[in-house]
Amino acid sequence: MNDDAAILLIEDSDTQALQLRRMFERAGFRIDRTRDAETALETLNHSRPDLLVVDYRLPGMNGDELVRIVRQTGATRTLPILMLTGDDASDVERQGLDSGANAYVPKRGGAELILSRVRALLRQVRARPLGDGPAAALRQARLLLLAPQDTASDQLVSDLAAEGYHVGHVAGIADTLKAIDEEAADGILVVEQPGDPSFGLSAKLDARRTARASGVALVALTDDAEPATVLAGLAAGADDVVSRGRDGDMLLVRIRAIVRRKLARDEEAAGIAREQAQAIALAQARAEADAAERLAQANAELAGANALLRETQAQLVQSAKMASLGELVAGIAHEINNPLAFILAHQATVERAVAGAANADDDARGALLTKAADRLQSIRSGLTRIQELVVKLRRFSRLDDGEVSRIDIPDAIDAVLTLLAPRLGSVEVVRTYGPARMLECSGALVNQVVMNIVANAADAVDPVAGRIAITTGAADGMFCIQVDDNGPGVPEDRRERVFEPFFTTKDVGSGTGLGLAIAYGVVRSHGGTIAIERAVQGGASFIIRIPERP
Ligand code: ADP
Repeated sequence: MNDDAAILLIEDSDTQALQLRRMFERAGFRIDRTRDAETALETLNHSRPDLLVVDYRLPGMNGDELVRIVRQTGATRTLPILMLTGDDASDVERQGLDSGANAYVPKRGGAELILSRVRALLRQVRARPLGDGPAAALRQARLLLLAPQDTASDQLVSDLAAEGYHVGHVAGIADTLKAIDEEAADGILVVEQPGDPSFGLSAKLDARRTARASGVALVALTDDAEPATVLAGLAAGADDVVSRGRDGDMLLVRIRAIVRRKLARDEEAAGIAREQAQAIALAQARAEADAAERLAQANAELAGANALLRETQAQLVQSAKMASLGELVAGIAHEINNPLAFILAHQATVERAVAGAANADDDARGALLTKAADRLQSIRSGLTRIQELVVKLRRFSRLDDGEVSRIDIPDAIDAVLTLLAPRLGSVEVVRTYGPARMLECSGALVNQVVMNIVANAADAVDPVAGRIAITTGAADGMFCIQVDDNGPGVPEDRRERVFEPFFTTKDVGSGTGLGLAIAYGVVRSHGGTIAIERAVQGGASFIIRIPERP
């Protein structure tokens, strides 16, 4: 899978570079080559290979100096680096590894060893823990030694502890597998069982870390450093194969190189996780700010629409009031016109009678004066009717001042009925007023609510056989006004709709559909209810209930 990985080779010798290029290409890798460290740094500025293969000896800047710079740069800090050298001296290897290279191969080690090393390094990249690895690399690295309990192991444990590692020592593979599962170690050092050239323990541990996508480093400790042994260890899955027979110091250098890489990768993963978390937090914050802004905008629009609606509603209520005012004026004119007409007629009769009486004989004068007195009586009753009408009108006008006051409900209903007289025609109106008369309310309750409901009833019933019953009373803290008629009634499925503004079944021009909507609003503003039922005599029954104490 990594065999198409890109390798940057830094090698000054053309012959060796050609050999290495052929070898890598045959193995399926993509190769880019620079002759010196300076050009390599340039190349790394704009391209990111999967692995560096660096010759230790270079003209100008040496290999270990290049590695040190690469390691100090954030973007390339975890780039795997394999160092090649013609020298076999331990101090060269030590310098290479200490500078930050991950592995070291003498060129004479042969193609197979180099390729094995390269594959082992690329394999470690693949096993990088994603996001949820240990958070910080600035901590004591944890090593686990899987080895028999013997003096050599004890010595290694104390050497590693002296290096600053937190070291655990186990003798069984079960505990080691558990440590991989629990991410309890950064590196595992495994001493293979004697007489197992196939590196069975390393293979098992590698399989488990692959299954768990664990980034733990795996170093096989062997008794010899023969190329065949190293190859077998790398093939089994170890990241490095180190001989315990070599001087203890060198062993520590190799372990340090492997573990450092694991910690650097952890840190990188933690950095990526932090960046992702920050990006998510930022996105969330932006989304919240956006949502809040949109909400505020929607609220503002809603408030605007609401204000417009209120204004329109107020205008509609006003025009509905004007419409009923027109009807009222017609009613008043009619009510005054009747008595006025016969007052005027009688007044003319009286005038004539009085004028005639002056010249008449006694008998005739007596008859004329009796007639005049009789007509004056009629004039008086007509004037009384007009006077009563004016009293009712004044009462009605007082009702309309919008103020809440104590109102005598039966009196107010009587005034409304007088004004509705022309609309009622010969419809019979039966009033049954209970003893409770006074109610704390606004005038609109009677002159809008009762008036609209009675006017509707008058429209609904038969003009000749029509009958409207108005009942008032109080019970359980509620004042009740009930208006029943013997019209067709309001079908049950329409009883809610009739309160909607503009709902009307009347002909165009005769109904606004606002009467009951206004009535509903007024009753609600008193904390009361308005219900429609079927009246006893078969028509509609409107029941208004208002709390006696608001
Ligand atoms: P409008 O009287 O202008 O139609 P309303 O809101 O006062 O508007 O009434 C709405 C509708 O309710 C009327 O058109 C009518 O269909 C119905 N309605 C109201 N009162 C009665 C009633 N007493 N009997 C039958 N239907 C009624």
